[in-house]
Amino acid sequence: MHDRPLAALAAGLAAREFSSEELVRHQLDRIARLDGGLNAFITVDEEKALAAARAADERLARGEGGPLTGIPIAHKDLFCAKGWKTTCGSKILSNWVAPYDAHVVERLAGEGAVLVGKTNMDEFAMGSSNESSFYGPVKNPWDRTRVPGGSSGGSAAAVAARLVPAATGTDTGGSIRQPASLCGVSGIRPTYGAVSRYGMVAFASSLDQGGAFGESAEDLALMLNAMAGFDPRDSTSVERPGEDYRRDLAKPLAGLRVGLPREYFTADLAPDVAACVTGAIDELKRLGAVPVEISLPNQHLAVPVYYVIAPAEASSNLSRFDGVRYGFRAAEYADLNDLYRKTRAQGFGAEVKRRILVGAYVLSHGYYDAYYLQAQKVRRLIARDFTEAFEACDVIAGPAAPTVAFPLGEKSNDPVQMYLEDLYTISVNLAGLPGLSVPCGFGAHGLPVGLQVIGNYFDEARMLQVAHRYQLATDWHRRRPGNLR
Ligand code: GLN
Repeated sequence: MHDRPLAALAAGLAAREFSSEELVRHQLDRIARLDGGLNAFITVDEEKALAAARAADERLARGEGGPLTGIPIAHKDLFCAKGWKTTCGSKILSNWVAPYDAHVVERLAGEGAVLVGKTNMDEFAMGSSNESSFYGPVKNPWDRTRVPGGSSGGSAAAVAARLVPAATGTDTGGSIRQPASLCGVSGIRPTYGAVSRYGMVAFASSLDQGGAFGESAEDLALMLNAMAGFDPRDSTSVERPGEDYRRDLAKPLAGLRVGLPREYFTADLAPDVAACVTGAIDELKRLGAVPVEISLPNQHLAVPVYYVIAPAEASSNLSRFDGVRYGFRAAEYADLNDLYRKTRAQGFGAEVKRRILVGAYVLSHGYYDAYYLQAQKVRRLIARDFTEAFEACDVIAGPAAPTVAFPLGEKSNDPVQMYLEDLYTISVNLAGLPGLSVPCGFGAHGLPVGLQVIGNYFDEARMLQVAHRYQLATDWHRRRPGNLR
């Protein structure tokens, strides 16, 4: 059962070939057998999952099911789900049970999707390898000595190993697209404002956006249909008419202009990854797309700008974790200041502390103008590069990550090397644009490579069309890691 895409699972449920309870039991059994070696999950709740599955079966029996009713899914452990431990991969939230549902959680539950568990992630979504989690690293299902990417590495690995057919993630600088690329699954980060951030533990609020992982573009469209939509509780949620993200999937690509940024195909891109991405672009040409060379002249400033803005916002957002209101509190302290100091010193890991320090520094009097304000200006220039590029093309294509999955430990002591993992994804977040990654081949060591497709604002349906047509012509997304039967 785990080998079928979402639409086929929905068809099986609708035809009563199997019940949601059977399907969920099958997935729970897979998780029990395989997750010990992967560490993709922080929490799995069999009882809650089976109760939701039975409720979905009743709904299906009444003929009231939708495309996700009865389908097992997992949420990245920064989406609040009522009654579920929600840790954000951190010790400081390791004992925190969410008292309410995130908008995304509410929406998917409303569709009848069955939450089986919460997935592992880099602490507070800070990282590109999943090694900063308090719960230990996630292993890449294709090679367990390697990272799955991050920060949504648990969700990407869970889908790659078919522990669940689909899962949520968040992408602040690449945390859906980069792990999707490294794990050989499809993943989409929608336009900023398309999916509500209500109930998502905040990292960098002007960049954070929820999205999804699945086997195929069609799966992503189904997930997005449930997740996207206006929510008055998120002040940056955009009010626009609802849309069916599947509507253009079948349309041919003839005449579609695909922008190829000169700055994406340089020596920074590993040759094995470049070969797969170029092969994918050739396939798009065969399908009728027209390549157009474009330039994103401020691309080289994206990583430095992000590492001013994201830490600045993080230092402010994370000030709420003080040991008083919720979460972990240091056991012994002398007075209130000591309580704050000890709680935060013991509760946060090294990468989170590094970001808080950098953020407080760039926001401080005397450095604000030189760093933070300057970064905001360059952010505008980066967004303008895309606006100009989209005058010449309909979508942009390139790599999602500069390399295939790297060995565990290889970059964990070198923050700058780790930050460069998001070279091709971060500018999209700074501009607020949507981007996706779909499997497009195998590079060094037989490891998966992703093709990134970037769209204009709210052009997810077109990006999904490109990805779907590509997936009709190729079978990279159907390949499975060996030894995970
Ligand atoms: N890797 C980037 C970072 O560490 C992006 C993380 C993300 O998208 N959440 O900040």
